[in-house]
Amino acid sequence: MQMLSKQNLRGWLSRIAKDHRLIAPTQVSRVILFRPVADVEQVILDYVNSVLSPKEWFFPRTDTLFTIERKEDGVELTPPNLDQKQVIFGIRPCDARAIKKQDKVFLGDPPDANYGQRRANTTLIGLACAQAAPWCFCTSVGIQPDDAGDVDVMLKQVGDNYLVESVTEKGAELVKLATVSEGEGTFVPAKLEVAVPTENLPEIMRSAFKEEFWDQAAERCFSCKICVYLCPTCHCFDVRDVYVDGQLQRLRTWDSCQSPQYNRLAGGYNPRGTKGARLRQFYYHKFLYYPEKWGEYLCVGCGRCLSNCPVNIDIREMLTAVRKRSATKEPVAEAV
Ligand code: SF4
Ligand code: SF4
Repeated sequence: MQMLSKQNLRGWLSRIAKDHRLIAPTQVSRVILFRPVADVEQVILDYVNSVLSPKEWFFPRTDTLFTIERKEDGVELTPPNLDQKQVIFGIRPCDARAIKKQDKVFLGDPPDANYGQRRANTTLIGLACAQAAPWCFCTSVGIQPDDAGDVDVMLKQVGDNYLVESVTEKGAELVKLATVSEGEGTFVPAKLEVAVPTENLPEIMRSAFKEEFWDQAAERCFSCKICVYLCPTCHCFDVRDVYVDGQLQRLRTWDSCQSPQYNRLAGGYNPRGTKGARLRQFYYHKFLYYPEKWGEYLCVGCGRCLSNCPVNIDIREMLTAVRKRSATKEPVAEAV
């Protein structure tokens, strides 16, 4: 088995940074964020997870789709140059799975050009989780803290060394830059404190569409949208044309189903005009609509939505409560 010492890890990252944009967990004020690093000493190795997931390096908060220029013979559209190769170091298994879920949306037919280019130009180096936060529940949605299936290289810490697993050819190419030695060791994955029952959720959701439960649960929600913006799987966006530095650009920006304006139609009617209907959409997208299309939940159990909600709306409690209601009440309506 290949081993990499902690000391050699930073040397490896320095070599990678010579011809890639290296994006890694860094300390920004009081939080950990994935940011491009100029000096590998800035890379944080000992952290549970970042506040924002690395999804923004594929699907940025604001993304220029193309610039628009009027020419004598018409209009010219220029896409951005996204040729730069990048390496995301330290991604956790839950966030890597979230990217796979986003792939289904953005790389379908037709594929999204910006997302596809960034994805093709990125190599993911995963760090298996040796410790979990109290809000983590990845194992309840089919992910293990040491899952290597969604990254190109997986590192598992054993003492002062890392076991190195090259998962893809792209990953193996990158590992050639590392000073590794042969060694043995056993990685002990994080033990999660909480298990959330997640079986049959689509069926349960179908039976709970018209429940008052959603209005009651959303009463204290104040539509801040933090849950959506921090979620590594949420992918709703808006598109608008804006002048930036004297240049007309078509921009794509993150949007949120928790916004009162998100569903407002021309003429003013809003089919999701209540907080309850909007909160319900968050859960229905993740546990009914996406699974109906792709056969899996749109949640990786990272717990960001619950640990950052200012009014403690807890997805684990919500799922348990919906299940309880469905066990005690007759189905009231089919979801539409
Ligand atoms: S984070 Fe909490 S308060 Fe904010 S929109 Fe989400 S559920 Fe509502
Ligand atoms: S719904 Fe919550 S727990 Fe699930 S992936 Fe999104 S932020 Fe993480």
